[in-house]
Amino acid sequence: MNRSSSSGPGAPHHVCPPATLAAGQEIAGFRITRVTAVPEIRATAYEARHLATGARFLHLHCDDRENLYAIVFRTPPFDSTGVAHILEHSVLAGSRHFPVKDAFNELVKSTLNTFLNAFTAPDFTCYPICSQVRADFYNLARVYTDLTLRPLLKKNTFMREGHHLQLGEEGALSITGIVYNEMKGAFSTPERVSFSSTLQGLFPDTPYGVESGGKPEDIPQLTHEAFCEFHRRYYSPSNAYIFLYGGIPTRDHLEFLAQQLEGFTAIEIDSRVPLQRRWSAPREVRAEFPVGESDPVEKRATVNIAWLTADADDLPERLALEVLQEALVGNAAAPLRQALIDSGLGEDLSPLTGLVTWYKQLPFVVGLRGADPDKADAIEKLALETLERIRREGIPRDLLEGAFHQVEFKGLEITRAPLPFPLILLFRTMSTWLHDLDPLVPLTFPTLMASLRERWTVDAQLFEKAIGRWMLENPHRLRAVIAPSRTLGPEREQALEAELTARRSAMSETELAEIRRTMKELQRDQRTPDPPEAVATMPKLQIDEIPRTVEMIPTAERAIEGVPVWEHDLFSNGVAYLDVAFDVADVAEDLQPCLPMLGAAATGMGAAGMGYAALASRKALALGALAADLEAAERLADDAPVQRFVLRARALRRNIPEMVAIVRDILIAGDLDEHERLKDILAEERNQLRASVAPNGHAFSRRTAAAGLSLSSRREEQWFGVSQVRFLNGQVGAFGDAGAALRARLAELRMSVFRRGRMLLNVTGDTECLTELRAALAGLVAALPAGGAVSGGESRAAAGGAVSAGAPRGVAIPGEVCYVARVLPVPRHNAPEAPALWVLSNHLRTGHLYKKIRVEGGAYGGLCLYDPLKGQLPMMSYRDPNLERTLEVYDTAVDAFLAENLDPDAMRTAIVGAVGRLDRPMDPAEKGYEAMRRRLFGLSDDDRRRFREGVLSTTIEQLRACADGVLRRASVDAPQAVLAKRERIEAANRTLARAFVVETIEEA
Ligand SMILES: [Zn+2]
Repeated sequence: MNRSSSSGPGAPHHVCPPATLAAGQEIAGFRITRVTAVPEIRATAYEARHLATGARFLHLHCDDRENLYAIVFRTPPFDSTGVAHILEHSVLAGSRHFPVKDAFNELVKSTLNTFLNAFTAPDFTCYPICSQVRADFYNLARVYTDLTLRPLLKKNTFMREGHHLQLGEEGALSITGIVYNEMKGAFSTPERVSFSSTLQGLFPDTPYGVESGGKPEDIPQLTHEAFCEFHRRYYSPSNAYIFLYGGIPTRDHLEFLAQQLEGFTAIEIDSRVPLQRRWSAPREVRAEFPVGESDPVEKRATVNIAWLTADADDLPERLALEVLQEALVGNAAAPLRQALIDSGLGEDLSPLTGLVTWYKQLPFVVGLRGADPDKADAIEKLALETLERIRREGIPRDLLEGAFHQVEFKGLEITRAPLPFPLILLFRTMSTWLHDLDPLVPLTFPTLMASLRERWTVDAQLFEKAIGRWMLENPHRLRAVIAPSRTLGPEREQALEAELTARRSAMSETELAEIRRTMKELQRDQRTPDPPEAVATMPKLQIDEIPRTVEMIPTAERAIEGVPVWEHDLFSNGVAYLDVAFDVADVAEDLQPCLPMLGAAATGMGAAGMGYAALASRKALALGALAADLEAAERLADDAPVQRFVLRARALRRNIPEMVAIVRDILIAGDLDEHERLKDILAEERNQLRASVAPNGHAFSRRTAAAGLSLSSRREEQWFGVSQVRFLNGQVGAFGDAGAALRARLAELRMSVFRRGRMLLNVTGDTECLTELRAALAGLVAALPAGGAVSGGESRAAAGGAVSAGAPRGVAIPGEVCYVARVLPVPRHNAPEAPALWVLSNHLRTGHLYKKIRVEGGAYGGLCLYDPLKGQLPMMSYRDPNLERTLEVYDTAVDAFLAENLDPDAMRTAIVGAVGRLDRPMDPAEKGYEAMRRRLFGLSDDDRRRFREGVLSTTIEQLRACADGVLRRASVDAPQAVLAKRERIEAANRTLARAFVVETIEEA
């Protein structure tokens, strides 16, 4: 295949880097097999094979500073002992050339990586790294390759990461191990049980039928020998897929890899996953997950209906199924989703719903969560009857067009959510490459979409037929019923206990002594630091290898009828981003908490005579996404309050006029009258925020502590913190009577906020997008009511009374863990101490806090992040078993640092790690938005350059002076807060000098 760059009329002007190598050429022991232009992502793809080992190589060469290296092995497991997963953990614990115990953490600390992780999938294991700095990139790639190909795989590592026996104080036997505990946790959640039982149930005769992560009851069967054998079998270059992305020339990568692969030879490995034989009749599986003895069991089950559909190598069919999934369940107006939700048989869709694209044969799942197991028949019947009706009546054309558009948008957008863009490309190519198919085809989205559309033109019934073929007439159908059980937990515990008691009583004294010896040995191993010669093997980046420049985001300023328009001309693959920001600094104190709800209503209700469902269809046809945001800070130069409500829309270039029309309709003719819908949105907002408390406890704790430090911190607490949870709770509770009151306040806000005088337009995209936006935006500006400009005096007046720190606050939440935050008020971005504060906070995070709070304290994490814009340095703990002890760790941070005596090597590591956190790569949407924030807050590129220079030249003396001066002073009476169980806070209060004032999260 050979694709060349097209530049006909209407085609985007994509430029692929010119080819520097040709197919057939031999370089550094590799033979180039194919060179292909991939204009869709502005890349030139080089495929090659390593002659000595057969290792597969693919480099997407493009003009991107961020480079990705990933080594991937096909690792289909034979059983559910979790061998692939335990191996994934264990290879990161040192290798022949880098024999340090926690190589992964060393890399986290001392490199400029922009991504560093490892994944175990049902049939492969993947080790990716990203960096924007060449020397750093090769350091990371060198260590990662050696870790995977030449790991130490010590017995101790296996026992720690996998499983081992331990004897308690009373002599009771138990099993522990990191993956063992991880999977025990995973299998206590309904989502994981639903995922595993449904997908494994569809493939009973293949490796997809076992649990690659490991089942807790099977993990203890894994032996160290089987574990090493799994590595020998699969972690060979002959079974490796090496993927690279970015701007470094291909030849350099080949030469680098030639060194890494030296000494390896080709071996015969069959790691292919066989095809599942198709069934002639539907089947059922049942699974359970544990709930507490007094927990409700009603409406907690999940019922999934799953089909085995097309083979992964049938790309046209796969794409058709992706479009079909959008049409059936993709948005609020999709018919299968509507039928399932409106039936009341369950609360929401099963999270597994949709097409699963990982597997060699593609599962398609629909299901309901929050159901009862005895409704399984009714749910299956409803799903089948609804599909039958949709097939008979035909899918409305608008719905399919909207579905086409959503798939196309997702395929084109350059985004770092949920993963950095190079990783998204990696996983796209893997979906075919791993099954011995062309890795580049999934990258050619526009071409594939065009041919699907052509098929649809020829056959108007294409999607209705697909419903028949892959669902209604497909006997390979599985019904999975995942039900809660109050007895499962205790039963499992008892069974395990009985087994261990029996084993214990059969053990000889020698065997028991051996277990004790192993436990001691593991502890000793953990405590002993790596010998200096091992530490010295880790590659170190020199300060002069770090670029001195800061990345600048292009910004052009224009105006339309006095409304400022900030334009950011960036390659965005044909996607346009529009941020409409309104000044809200003068909004009265009592209306401030309503601003998040204003955003939810603007993006979720109807407008201009269309109900919310009709508007949802219209949005699916034209928008990639629509969301609202709130920003608050004090301007750097003069501390003036800056507060903005931002409506954010994104769309493909051809939909720019419609995007702007939708935004205009929402702003000038938004509808607040659909009472039931407003109620649903309010409840949804409340549930989401409430559900985010536990996973983000440290952030809630920080916001609570910081609320008294500045006006912007108070706003953030009101909008996103504990008091917002209370506000929404109050609104939900009173909606019956007071719904009208909320509506009136929202209407008042709309009237006063959505006005030309307080508007700012911020737009991002390719040059063509910007030109088109300019034309469309004139209409938007003209449509908005004039006036509304906010004066400095008004915003200061709205700020109200003085901000004060007040007493420590303890917010009572359920659960066993604490989230402890203390926020130190420190100088801001342009102060002379700011760069040293940045280095110091990063060093405390990876040093003192990591060691005391996580390693010794047993918390999931300890954090310390200097926010230069706010002038705050929060210390936070996450899922922390301790409270008073953690406060002591904060108290001793300064003295612990001063006692450390950093040597020049450690100082360099501290600086490299700190710079790494300055250079976060951003996608086009983030870049445009960040440029807007910087401008609003008065942060110039010169400020950022000086700050970076300051970080790079920080000295040990400066750090010590900063700790002893600024930090010590700021620690006195620094505000603090904790989220924890009430009894826990009250117990702490008995010994603390500064007691927490206890409040509950539900009400003040
Ligand atoms: Zn894991």
